[in-house]
Amino acid sequence: MSGIVIVGAGLGGLRAAESARAAGYQGPITMIGDEPHLPYTRPPLSKEALAAGIDVAALEFRRKRSLDDVDWLLHRAAVGCDLAAHEVHLDDGRAVAFDALVVASGIRARRLPLPGPIEGRYLLRTAEDAIRLRARLTAGARVVVLGAGFIGCEVAATARSLGCEVCVVAVDPVPMLRPLGARLGAAMQRRHESHGVSFQLSRTIDVLHGSATHVRSVGLSDGTELPADVVIEAVGSVPNVEWLAGNGLDLSDGVLVDSAMQVVSSPAPMVAVGDVCRHPNALFGPAPRRVEHWSVPTATGRRAGATLASLLAGEQPDRSPFAVLPSFWSDQYAYQVQSFGMPDLADRIVVAEGDIDGPCIVEYFDASGLVGVVGIDRTPDLGPFRMALMDRPLVAG
Ligand code: FAD
Repeated sequence: MSGIVIVGAGLGGLRAAESARAAGYQGPITMIGDEPHLPYTRPPLSKEALAAGIDVAALEFRRKRSLDDVDWLLHRAAVGCDLAAHEVHLDDGRAVAFDALVVASGIRARRLPLPGPIEGRYLLRTAEDAIRLRARLTAGARVVVLGAGFIGCEVAATARSLGCEVCVVAVDPVPMLRPLGARLGAAMQRRHESHGVSFQLSRTIDVLHGSATHVRSVGLSDGTELPADVVIEAVGSVPNVEWLAGNGLDLSDGVLVDSAMQVVSSPAPMVAVGDVCRHPNALFGPAPRRVEHWSVPTATGRRAGATLASLLAGEQPDRSPFAVLPSFWSDQYAYQVQSFGMPDLADRIVVAEGDIDGPCIVEYFDASGLVGVVGIDRTPDLGPFRMALMDRPLVAG
């Protein structure tokens, strides 16, 4: 028996394994991960761990006893697979056989195709990325952050707290536009500015200048040149799906799955979980979406593990509508941002409580009603809004 093979040793893979065991699966589990570490938590990499220094062992998830017999193949990448033959191909030339496969390979940070020196440019996705970056975030360092999403803004806040001079450059007119909307995004910008971060918005970076070996400045689309010792690229993500190519799957934005997290059109028993999977969510209509939030690997991993246990026992998996309330938190300086739902779907925003420049609760609406809520320093008060979102009528595809 080859058992379950999981590609990607992160949160989603771990939760899928735990859930398969909890659903009664007793057979072998092999977890393949291209990082050298056991699964660890990523959110601190842009926040407290980046500020304090990275201790990967301290970031590892607690693993349940039910996973004591997992075969870990770490520092090993899947480079291809033959689903019809039930095989995953590794970067050392080996083929690993499976009865059922879990795609948990997540996403990677996108790198901009910028001309100029490479040294001095940083991405932030892995512990190694954070360790490298941390070494350069010394007091007085001139840091340019490309991208004003959550990760870009969190890194900006952390770098500032370490005494760096920080400028955020983004093509959007306000930071965190998509997840927070224009009004709250602008209010967050004011909070950052009050801590000494500057912004160059509605601009792109065209070129990096410097010596052959190191970035010294960045050139913006309007001709501005910003001095830079460190350039951090936080401009979105790319799903890690290349190793699945050639098997007839829909990989157009991650891996398309159904409500059981089963991969659509796969000839083998196969599920996908976490950031890499494009899944339906009956709480927000029939369109499948990829959501890069912490809550999603856990919810999709649970459903996927149960599906695997059913499939391997020769039973039908639970195909009831899949419904998860995406949740996201972000710490920037002492501000705690907590989001529930899908604020990015909204076309109308209402400040429900408080002042947008202070502690506040902001509601997000579309034609179907409330689609999201964000609290700034009001997390304990979000319960009723969360319940209202959970009560949305389910619309399955
Ligand atoms: P991952 O955690 O990315 O795990 C996938 C694993 O698969 C990785 O180890 C990857 O290297 C590996 N892999 C990829 N390809 C292969 C291959 N071919 N072979 C073998 N292994 C492979 N979410 C929040 O809700 N709140 C936050 O505050 C927050 N902060 C974040 C801060 C940072 C810096 C980052 C990077 C993410 C943050 N997130 C946050 C998002 C959250 O961490 C992710 O949603 C979560 O990690 C996704 O889990 P996953 O298991 O799907 O993917």
